Parts: sequence; C-alpha cells; structure tokens
Amino acid sequence: MKLIYFFQVLVLALLLATCAKNPVTGKREVMLMSEADEIKLGAESDPEIVAEFGVLENPELQAFINEKGNEMAKVSHRSSLPFHFKILDSPVVNAFALPGGYVYFTRGILAHFNNEAQFAGVLGHEIGHVTARHGANQYSKQMLAQLGLAIGSSISKELETFADIAGAGLQLLFMKFGREDESQSDELGVEYASKTGNDGKQMADFFKTLDKLGGEGEDRMPAFLSTHPAPLDRFEKVGELTKVWQEKLPNQSFSVNRDSYLRRIDDLPYGEDPQQGFVEKSVFYHPALAFYFPVPKDWTLTNAPAKVTVTEKSGKGLLIFDLAKGNDFQAALKETLDANELELVKDKNRRINGFQAMEAELKQKAPNSGAEPLTIKLILIQDGKNMFRFLAIAQGNEVKSFNAAMDNAVDGFSRLTDREKLNRQVERIQIVSVRRNGTFAEVLSDFKMPAARHKELAILNGMELTDRVSGNMLVKVIKNIKPE
Ligand SMILES: [Zn+2]
Repeated sequence: MKLIYFFQVLVLALLLATCAKNPVTGKREVMLMSEADEIKLGAESDPEIVAEFGVLENPELQAFINEKGNEMAKVSHRSSLPFHFKILDSPVVNAFALPGGYVYFTRGILAHFNNEAQFAGVLGHEIGHVTARHGANQYSKQMLAQLGLAIGSSISKELETFADIAGAGLQLLFMKFGREDESQSDELGVEYASKTGNDGKQMADFFKTLDKLGGEGEDRMPAFLSTHPAPLDRFEKVGELTKVWQEKLPNQSFSVNRDSYLRRIDDLPYGEDPQQGFVEKSVFYHPALAFYFPVPKDWTLTNAPAKVTVTEKSGKGLLIFDLAKGNDFQAALKETLDANELELVKDKNRRINGFQAMEAELKQKAPNSGAEPLTIKLILIQDGKNMFRFLAIAQGNEVKSFNAAMDNAVDGFSRLTDREKLNRQVERIQIVSVRRNGTFAEVLSDFKMPAARHKELAILNGMELTDRVSGNMLVKVIKNIKPE
C-alpha cells in the first residue's frame, strides 16, 4: 500500500515538474523536454546528421534558405528560438526537423519544388513541428530506409549489432509523428507561409507531386509523405486553409515566385551521385576513392554515405566496408575490437592486389548463449592516406560458403583505372527556356531527353506530358543525362 502511494506521489511530482505551456496552443501539457533540453538534443544530433549525409556545398542556395527560414521563424510561435537550416546531400525527396529548431531539406526535395511558395509551405510545415513541440514518438525504420541508411535486407539478430549504422542519437531523429501532429503542422505551414507572403495553394500542389512520387508501391513512397495523412486529403485541406488565411490577411499579397526559384536550383545535383559509388554487373565501383570490388552473386549491396553493407539473403552473411579509424593497422584493429566487444584470435600481414593489408580473425567476447556462433574476419587495406576496412561476419551452417563469397569480394579489391567509370558525373537539373509552343512531351524531345525519362521529368516539373507549354517558359531538364 505504502509503496503504491509513494509511486503516485512520485508520478504526480514528475508531472508537475514537466508541465509546460505549448507555444502554439497555449495549453499546459506534459513536456518531456525543457526548451534547453530540446536545443541541446538538436545541437548534439546535428553533427551526426551532417556526418551521415553530408551538407550540399551551395552558398547561394544556403543563403536563400537561411533568409527565408529566419524570416518565417520570426512570424512563428517561437520567434526567439535560434533556428538552423541545412541542405543535405541526398537524392531522396525529404524534409525533416529536430527538436530545438534544426530543419533539413534534402537536395532531392529542393529539385522537386517548382516555385518558392512550395518550398515555403514545406518550410512552414517543418517549422511547425518545432514550434508545436511535437514530441519524438518513435523513430521510423522506414525513414532510415528512405534516407539510404538502413541496409537492404533483414539480417539475423546477432549480425544486426554490427550492421547498425545509425547510432542511438541518430535513431532518435527519425521520429514518426502522429496524424494529429502532421495535420497541425500542415495548418501551421499554411499560416507561416501566408504570413510571409507565400501562396499556400502551391503547397497543396506539392502534395500532388508527392502523391505521384509515391505512386509505385510502398518502397518509392517518400518518407516525408509516408508518415503523413494521405496526400490528396492534405491537398484539399491545405487548399481550404489557404483561403481562410488569405482572407485573414487582407493587406498581404501572396506570391508564387516560379522563375526566380527555378533559377536558384539550376545545376543542382539530381539523383544518386556515381562518384560516391555504384554497382554495375555485380561490381561495386567507387570513382571518388578510385577502387572497386566484386559483389557476391545474389547478395544485396547498400551504399550509405558512411559505409557499404553487403548482405546475404538468409541474413546470416554480412560484409561491411568502410573507412577504418586509426593511423595504422594496430590502432584500427584496436578500435574495431573495442567498438564491437571483440577479441583477437590471430592476425597476419598480407597484400591485396598491390595494397598493404592486414587480416585478422576475431571472436565475440560474450557470444549470445544458444545462438549459432559467428566467424568474424577483419581486413584492413592501406591506400595512401586512407585505410579501408572490411568486416566479414558469417553465422550458421553455411559459414564456409558465406566466407568464400566474402573472401572473393575482399581479394578482388582493386584500384579503379577505367576512365569512363572514374569520370562518371552526377546528373544535374538544368533550367531551360522553352523554344516553342507545344506539349510538355514535345518540349522534352526538343531538349533530347530520352523517352524513358519523360514520365519522371513530368513529375519533376509538376506537369503532365500532355500539358501545353508556351514559348519562353522555364522548365527543368537533366544535364549529364545517362544515355538510354
Ligand atoms: Zn511532418
């Protein structure tokens, strides 16, 4: 009895301590984080996000986003909170916000906006998550997958600890908001966008783009969309909210700013960057680091910015490739042992296609009792200033065949010298002026866009292929486009 009473008092005390006024609704509610905690969480997590995805180097676009973001933050419900706006170097179509005022756009979503008002609507939506203090409910594995962080197939529990690339801090960031939070953010997005003179209807139109991008099964659904209410419902709702806000602000004008926005994204990288690695005919090529290695047949390779993961389909073979930490083989070995709770069985120096290398057999300090034992091999390869690391882990009955497949990949690690592959460039958005009146499909043909890419280009431009386009209108085409 007494014990229960004690806990009731304790719970009550905790509730009182964490009750705070919501900046948007003004209601008192239970807050898990103080504002200082929120800012701290954002500030601590931001470097992880930046390290994982990289920030796009584009000072002009960055300056534009800072300017618009800060302008909107000033009319928001948390005008004194210092906001931070970043462009991530990812082709995925996504935008998200962290507690404490950290807002991210991928280059993929910036490529898909067709005017400033669409950008402003999404900006307002993300600022809304911050101002309304939408708590971190749960991180979404789907979002990890969308951002290219989750590995391509499921793997056994024992192997998962090795493959888990997202640290605890990073996982927290990929939170899933509930429907109510999303609807509230849509409302706030329209409000903030309207107050800064943007036409909210354009944000509604962008939901149509998202809907089309999500059109080919769950996998293709952009994360921005997948955790939200259905895009076409949101299209309706945002359209209505726009009317309400435009009537509330009779002295404000609401602009679209199509051409000026398009000029800002001219030359923006589009799609995967082959310089950061690609698979062709069961070989993984990395032009920027000038190496390649064969991928075992029927294994799945996932190329995330910080590491490459190759998984066997039963989930019991796992090859991880990344940059080793440490200045020499011994330091890198020690770091691997410490970080994964492993111990050394034996090691030897060797050569791999002209590179100095070290190979070590490792084992778990405390294997899960009852689980099939793991064989773990570490291979370190020195390439000038860079030291690469393969970690090959196999489990169960087919250890031998898994190991043979992974040995084959490691032994095939070689210098990439093929000029064509070394020079492969990322595709880029090119803003062009239409030469004559015609359908959008005709325009694309005029600019020699391959027919296989027409549908994609229509979505990118927020148009249908049958739409009429008039001379001098600006549209997006693709530079460095891959030949058909
Ligand atoms: Zn949202």
